[in-house]
Amino acid sequence: MRFLYQTLALAAAARAASVSLESLFGPYLSPGTEIAELNDTDFDDVVSPRWSEWRPPSWTGAIKPATEKDLQEIVRIAVANNVSFMATNGGHGTSLIYGTVNGLDINLENFNSVDIDLESNTVTVGAGAKLGDITIPLYEAGKAIPRGNSPCVGVIGATIGGGIGYETGLFGLGVDALTSVRLVTATGALVTANTTHNADLLWAIRGAGANFGIITAATFTMSPQPNNGNAVIGSFVYNSTASLGVFEYLAILDDVLPPELGVQLSVSYNRTTNETLLTVDIKHFAGWDTFVDHFESALALNPISANVTNVTLVQLYDGLDGPCQTGAYISGGTIGLGRTDPATLQEVFDDMTAFYRQYPGYIGQTLFQRYANNNTLKTPAHTAVYPWRDTKMFWLHENIYTDPALEKPTNELLVKLRKKLHATSGFPQDQPHIYVNYAFGDEGAEAWWGEENLPRLSFLKRRWDPKGVFGRGTPIPRF
Ligand SMILES: Cc1cc2nc3c(=O)[nH]c(=O)nc-3n(C[C@H](O)[C@H](O)[C@H](O)COP(=O)(O)OP(=O)(O)OC[C@H]3O[C@@H](n4cnc5c(N)ncnc54)[C@H](O)[C@@H]3O)c2cc1C
Repeated sequence: MRFLYQTLALAAAARAASVSLESLFGPYLSPGTEIAELNDTDFDDVVSPRWSEWRPPSWTGAIKPATEKDLQEIVRIAVANNVSFMATNGGHGTSLIYGTVNGLDINLENFNSVDIDLESNTVTVGAGAKLGDITIPLYEAGKAIPRGNSPCVGVIGATIGGGIGYETGLFGLGVDALTSVRLVTATGALVTANTTHNADLLWAIRGAGANFGIITAATFTMSPQPNNGNAVIGSFVYNSTASLGVFEYLAILDDVLPPELGVQLSVSYNRTTNETLLTVDIKHFAGWDTFVDHFESALALNPISANVTNVTLVQLYDGLDGPCQTGAYISGGTIGLGRTDPATLQEVFDDMTAFYRQYPGYIGQTLFQRYANNNTLKTPAHTAVYPWRDTKMFWLHENIYTDPALEKPTNELLVKLRKKLHATSGFPQDQPHIYVNYAFGDEGAEAWWGEENLPRLSFLKRRWDPKGVFGRGTPIPRF
């Protein structure tokens, strides 16, 4: 029976491969839907943009649905004909596994909507919305949701892996504010998942959301905007003589980081002065009166430069577009830390220095994102598959280069630093905490979603996506 099924599937795939995308899909779609074969001159207009040139998916064509109904038809036809596909929006998904994906790109760009409903205190975001699209509507409404930082990243893409950012300390994880989704499932059906309908599916989408369908709209509960939409931001740059002192100070904050404070430390290299720099970016979602102590502490650690500004939240988020540049090879990886070990962080700083010096073409950086997690811990863990609520700091490594020859040494650097940080993370050595949205791709489902969650997750995968057509970048294993 299984053999018969496989033979039929192969025959369907062969049939589909021999006909054009236009003849396979076109007759069933509205005129606004764009379809492009790989060699068509308009392919680049139809396919989603990609953030990194490192191991991208191999697209066989691209399709940009105009309506939800078109999207349903596309999934139905693709599944029936064994055409593999991946739905994309911001194009930031990157990992070793993404590089093995081969199929049709379904570009969600046309579903770019942001609808605020003050009566229900919710915002509903379409599948094409980027983080930059929600900033002004939320600001003008005096509202906030837990959100990621960079404006080019997809709102739904960032949320469905967990959703972390500078405001995590105040509002928790993106998945905790996500109350309802509409999604197109593997049969092409449009279903709702919320706490009363398909609650199990909502649990799974809150952390493994790319695996169950294509979400066309996601609804979030809003919170009041912090500090009337104003913040104080500071950027302090330290050199190697001060870096250990900064790491030691960070360790003191391990249990007392205030929720209104988001901190990111980045290790980078200045090729003009030939020195490794540690930049501490602080976003303080409150007034100067509570910022002043942090300011004085940062100055006491002897920065080589210090910059502090009062901004609106619109200015704050618009200013986070630095990492949105495209065109380079960028591979990323991560590990969650339950404590700050200053000696290990200093070793990472020193390893990076040696690497920068050995490879002049390397412009990567290593980041430590420290968001208070008291608030996220308050949300009952059983409401979401996202497992790593005890993570205090997210290490995010970004190898950036243009010469493909750097791939091997940069991959080795990433794995070496990850192992080192894991050893002193405070978490069990057989339980690496990997934020799935930052994954390198070699960690596996247990590290992304937690061993205890896998049976329920696999059960839901079998129920909603038995052929495994979704989630090709971070697949749930079948048991
Ligand atoms: C520069 C940069 C900054 C980042 N900043 C943050 C941050 O501050 N906080 C944070 O939490 N993460 C952050 N991330 C990680 C980011 O959340 C993930 O890379 C996320 O998967 C990107 O979503 P996307 O839509 O941009 O990418 P895409 O490549 O378009 O999609 C990524 C994955 O999500 C799936 N997906 C996208 N939309 C849908 C949908 N509507 N329905 C179902 N599946 C969907 C895709 O199929 C794919 O598997 C950042 C990444 C980068 C590169």
